[in-house]
Amino acid sequence: MESFLVCSIGRLLRKNISVVFSGKKFLVDPENGAKYGGEFDEFDKTLKVATGIPVHKWFPVYIHEYCHFLQFSAKTKAWLNSSESLQRIFENISVKTQGRGHTETKGSKRGFTKKDVLNVMRMEMEAERLVLKIIDEHKIETDRDKYVKGANAYMLYYSISVYKFSAWPAKSLYRNEKFLNMMPSKKIMPITWFFEQPDQVKKFFL
Ligand SMILES: [Zn+2]
Repeated sequence: MESFLVCSIGRLLRKNISVVFSGKKFLVDPENGAKYGGEFDEFDKTLKVATGIPVHKWFPVYIHEYCHFLQFSAKTKAWLNSSESLQRIFENISVKTQGRGHTETKGSKRGFTKKDVLNVMRMEMEAERLVLKIIDEHKIETDRDKYVKGANAYMLYYSISVYKFSAWPAKSLYRNEKFLNMMPSKKIMPITWFFEQPDQVKKFFL
């Protein structure tokens, strides 16, 4: 773990990316108060991670954000295609809609298209597959199955919550064991899988 950390930070700094390890439990978006664990911002040229939680929890977040940096550096197709789509989604979704009582949004009311959602999902899936490669290659001590479950759950956020309800899901869903245990743990699922979920999965997002 240490050698990967040293190498990756070196690589970030050589590309003029600032690395911030915040001792807080989460980062907060100054604009809307949303809480999150980490971010890579290609415009601010920073990678930030909230490290005020146990290392086995924040380290995978760091690797995930580092993989976004790798996508950015390599200018992968998935990364480049997602940029405008992500912006459209963020502009049309309010964190205030987090939680219960969503109604399904359709068509132009949504402000973004299914293609936007697919673009973002493909970018996140590329990152998640890179994360797993790093975990395997560097033998990083982490609960790999749990990470894969979380990654699949995260994709469902996009295919169900964002696409169907134009809302970010309640954050507590990430800690919902019943929901997470329904997620496949061996691999990141193909994109069609995320759009073919039974009602028992969808109901978690209502
Ligand atoms: Zn990501």
